[in-house]
Amino acid sequence: MSSGYFNNIKEATVSLFNGFAITLSNMFRKPVTLQYPDKTPRSVTDLMPERSRSWLKVEMPICTACLNCEKACPIDCIKITTEKDPSGRVMSGFDIDMAKCMYCGLCTEPCPTGAIHFIPEFERASFSLDQMISRFVPEGEKVVPYKVPKKDKDEEKNSAKEEAEDKAAEAEPDA
Ligand code: SF4
Ligand code: SF4
Repeated sequence: MSSGYFNNIKEATVSLFNGFAITLSNMFRKPVTLQYPDKTPRSVTDLMPERSRSWLKVEMPICTACLNCEKACPIDCIKITTEKDPSGRVMSGFDIDMAKCMYCGLCTEPCPTGAIHFIPEFERASFSLDQMISRFVPEGEKVVPYKVPKKDKDEEKNSAKEEAEDKAAEAEPDA
């Protein structure tokens, strides 16, 4: 009984000094934290990992208005408005509500031209939900959708055909 009592005192003392030793060693270590946002060694954008998911951007000059991204978004963050114009079909709105976005990236995957993508930018906190909406077509303006050159379309078709042929060959049972 008494040996258990003294063992407990010994263990408590050792663990107390272990704790002090760790605290002391941390006093002389270089801090790993950054004084964000005032003192970062480089701009925060440069410090973001290459494939980070942050703010979404749409390169309007290569957007085909195919609506694939809008359909892929599971929570309806993307709203694309198209209308008929004397020059043909045009986009009169392309909004992404970043306040709703969960950064899943599903909208970027079916984009045929890579127009919609993440950019290494996230410092856009705002007091207004309206300011969290990215508007890629300025109000009152219209954007003519990008037309994929025919050559690219042919290449796409050929590669899809080759892929289908390869799959069919793989599926065929050995003679
Ligand atoms: S990242 Fe996900 S939630 Fe955000 S807009 Fe794209 S599909 Fe929608
Ligand atoms: S951003 Fe891409 S997926 Fe979305 S409408 Fe434009 S081309 Fe289609």
